[in-house]
Amino acid sequence: MGGLEIQGLQSSLFFETPEEIYTRVFRDLKPRTPAPVLRVEFCRFANADSFIRLEQGTLEVRMTDLLSGAPAPVIEALAHILIGKLYRKTVPRIYSHRYRLYMNRKDVRRQAHLLRQIRGRKFISGPKGTHYDLQEVFERLNTQFFDGMLGQPMFGWSRGESRSMLGHFDPSHNAIIISRIFDRPQAPPLALEYVMFHEMLHLRFPVDHAGARRRVHTKEFREAERKFPQLKEAKELLKGL
Ligand SMILES: [Zn+2]
Repeated sequence: MGGLEIQGLQSSLFFETPEEIYTRVFRDLKPRTPAPVLRVEFCRFANADSFIRLEQGTLEVRMTDLLSGAPAPVIEALAHILIGKLYRKTVPRIYSHRYRLYMNRKDVRRQAHLLRQIRGRKFISGPKGTHYDLQEVFERLNTQFFDGMLGQPMFGWSRGESRSMLGHFDPSHNAIIISRIFDRPQAPPLALEYVMFHEMLHLRFPVDHAGARRRVHTKEFREAERKFPQLKEAKELLKGL
């Protein structure tokens, strides 16, 4: 029951937004300085680091989204660490210890490891190639086939000119990756459009995890794909790449 009481006490801190926590800590550390405008955001970093900087009178805090579910006392501890670092103040041990304790928790470490795995290794080039702009292709097809209702993912060209992997949708990065093989003047636009359309259908019909087998190309997926005009012609073009 003791634990519950402590939780009850701390829960009052939950009513503070991260901005309010940082503002309170700032007043604590710099009582004579008017608190600057504070902007706090959680960022999808590939690691567990967080950053602070003072930019034209605004205190910008970018915390790893690993901490987006962290208890307020942990956010408070990090605020002491970051603001302390910024103003070269010694961080009281209670805060550095509390923060370290949380980051060393098994579940948090596992989550941090996953983030590094999923986000760290991937290089996403962006939509602009030498000859084609994937975003343009996406927007055209989005208007033509999805009433413009498909949310825009990230885009990337593959590093190599892969023939075996012409395109894929990567849900963990929410990115459509297209083989560099299409980014050439002699690559027919129809072939690229078809591959993009196919990957857009993966965005539209997420993978069905029901049952033992993962169904990637479901019946409704295939039906929707048949609505692509010149489907046969496009598939023929892919063979000739
Ligand atoms: Zn597919």
